[in-house]
Amino acid sequence: MYRYRCTQCRTTSPPALTRSALAQERQSHRVLKHGGHIPDGEQIVKPERFSFFDLPREQKIAGTLMIAALVVAFLFRTL
Ligand SMILES: [Zn+2]
Repeated sequence: MYRYRCTQCRTTSPPALTRSALAQERQSHRVLKHGGHIPDGEQIVKPERFSFFDLPREQKIAGTLMIAALVVAFLFRTL
């Protein structure tokens, strides 16, 4: 999810699902609010980096088990 931010207007667009939706958002903001000019200081707010702690509980458990299995397999190989 991307957001378009215009520091001139101090506004941030609603989240856009794709980059092309974001480009449309940016274009329409430029046209509607700035007469087609490109505002100084416009920003693209990128999605937050992937975080393990944002995962749903089931996926967290599955992920933890998978890592544990890998660690155990590694230990058995080295012993
Ligand atoms: Zn603006």
